[in-house]
Amino acid sequence: MSPAPPGHQVKPHPPGRTISNVPSPPAVRRASSQDSCPGALRVHQAADGGLARVRVPGGVLTGPQWQALIAAAERLGNGQLELTSRGNLQLRGLGTGDEAALAARLQDAGLLPSLTHERVRNLLASPLTGRDGGLLDVRPLIAEFDRALCARPALSELSGRFLFALDDGRADVLAAEPDIAVTATSPHSMQLLLAGRPVAAQRPSSAAVELMLAAAEAFLAERQAQGSAAWRLAELIHGPARVAARLGIVDRAGHTTARAAGHAPAAGHPPAAGHSTAPAPGRVIRQRDGASALVIGIPLGSLSADQARAFLRPQLILTPWRSIVVPDLDTAEAAELLADCARLGMITDGTDALRDVTACTGRPGCASALADVRADALATHRAAGVPLSAGVHWSGCARRCGRPAGAVTDLVATGAGYRLSTGERAVEVGSAPAELTAALLAESALTADPALAGSR
Ligand code: SF4
Repeated sequence: MSPAPPGHQVKPHPPGRTISNVPSPPAVRRASSQDSCPGALRVHQAADGGLARVRVPGGVLTGPQWQALIAAAERLGNGQLELTSRGNLQLRGLGTGDEAALAARLQDAGLLPSLTHERVRNLLASPLTGRDGGLLDVRPLIAEFDRALCARPALSELSGRFLFALDDGRADVLAAEPDIAVTATSPHSMQLLLAGRPVAAQRPSSAAVELMLAAAEAFLAERQAQGSAAWRLAELIHGPARVAARLGIVDRAGHTTARAAGHAPAAGHPPAAGHSTAPAPGRVIRQRDGASALVIGIPLGSLSADQARAFLRPQLILTPWRSIVVPDLDTAEAAELLADCARLGMITDGTDALRDVTACTGRPGCASALADVRADALATHRAAGVPLSAGVHWSGCARRCGRPAGAVTDLVATGAGYRLSTGERAVEVGSAPAELTAALLAESALTADPALAGSR
């Protein structure tokens, strides 16, 4: 936990109405079973214009693809590129009728390989795989997975929210709670995880893609059998166990009875989902081949075109932590890029106040928003001057769009201010940056020392 910055006094609890008697926000219910998740072709009409989401399997982009995205954002949108919590990209402010022009640009850049599957190409991969750490280089599996996914017509029925992950054994992308993942257990083998639950089947890494896609098909079959409109595997009744049974394998808890089919049981325990080993922004990583990879954090996940142009390199990797990895640099290039990014206002230091801060769109881009959460977040965290807690997510309403998976402190706009909550603990605060800063500092202190909660 970061210490309080000079001039800030941490009190046991801050301005604001205390906790347990503050009503919880109402549970969010779906208005319909229709999956309205935006895509590159299915543009969502937001309050600030069209919103397109471009899937980027594994987060891997070439320089020309990045250039094409910048140009599309400038010519068709509001000039901003937004990183999502799944390592994808969004363009906002698209004009009516610009969908075809955007699709043509994306196709020319190789970013739209399938018209039928474009919304389901949700694949995370360990961003540093093959360059630093991990048990297995999963880079070759990214393209293999994408090709195979798009070649199976039935899988276009998956929800745009369904998430796959290729983890190289370090468990970084498992923290995003993928529906179907494989994680390396050795340099040659991988284990399947269904909704975060390891199932007792290790396979050669060469069989990993087929196993993931078979699991996705089993999910669709089970969904149909249950008469469900579930978008995510965990929404099905006994989803992981039923899918494992359809695959003919036994989950680690032995909840299914199917045959092991000659596959050895898992020898080790893959790292638990929820543990993130996200590389810190500003870090220069020495690759195995001697080159350097640089990690840059993007404030609130949003880049101007000028900021984006700093990343015009042969390759870049979008991470699910609203950061960008630029690999294969020499020492001088890494130092120059780091300086450029600092000058352009990006996060180049692990102690930056905006590190681990995320926010939904808020006002004015979203009609449901009760506050301009991005402006409030910037003012509050910049006033604090240091990171306030391990992670903070700001939302304009109770839907909490874009919230990272796992434990974070939530700030949800109420119309009269914000509801600040961490786990079961909650307090209502106003919207003045000083008040919000004080509340977040107090929350940080409580997180660091839960004994303080008794003094509330
Ligand atoms: S959390 Fe609410 S205000 Fe924010 S983008 Fe989602 S719907 Fe809009």
